Amino acid sequence: MRLVLVGPPGAGKGTQAQFLAAHYSIPHISTGDIMRVNIKQGTALGREVKSYMDRGELVPDTVTNEMVRLRLNEGDLGNGFLLDGFPRNVGQAEVLRAILSEKKSPLDAVLELSIPADEIVKRLSGRRTCRNCGKVWHVAFEPSAVADVCDVCQGELYQREDDKEEVITRRLEVFKEQTSPIVSFYRNEGLLITISASGTVADITERAISALSRVH
Ligand code: AMP
Repeated sequence: MRLVLVGPPGAGKGTQAQFLAAHYSIPHISTGDIMRVNIKQGTALGREVKSYMDRGELVPDTVTNEMVRLRLNEGDLGNGFLLDGFPRNVGQAEVLRAILSEKKSPLDAVLELSIPADEIVKRLSGRRTCRNCGKVWHVAFEPSAVADVCDVCQGELYQREDDKEEVITRRLEVFKEQTSPIVSFYRNEGLLITISASGTVADITERAISALSRVH
């Protein structure tokens, strides 16, 4: 299964991606996660992307496309992959199509998670991420047992710089202006499947698997 997840920030792409990747036994490739790991490790790539991420802006395509091209050439994609957070504009979608067509392995589907605008800010501003294992919690919807401590690994929970309210506004603008056009791009390619991303995590996963079973 070669799959792309699309949706506004806060739609639950990362959470669903983990479940879907496990269900289909495919690697979960999150460009945001790769960038955050690079920042944590202090690599040159990390230094290059940090200021864009902290401001809620897209990292330049030259950097992101090359990162994805390298990742898609690794040897663990025999069963396919799930891309989360890429592509984020039509230029990236075209680059992805070219990379995959060269490998004669086109996408099977693009799953759009659709969510009402007023839910987005609520979801993002309550999100807390574990500094150690990366697990995502939510102060209201999925709180850890002890505030600011991860139940899984006891790591410290923090609020991503770009989950603060002033940056969320910019991320939503960027989504509307730059990312949402990829929805029509993929509709025209006949790849788009849209599901509602409201409800419990388990409900949404079930909805996704049921919708994807029609294409795969
Ligand atoms: P995410 O974890 O997917 O919400 O991404 C967090 C941030 O990483 C975004 O706001 C961008 O600054 C950067 N980023 C992640 N994926 C991309 C991409 N495909 N193109 C450009 N920037 C990206």
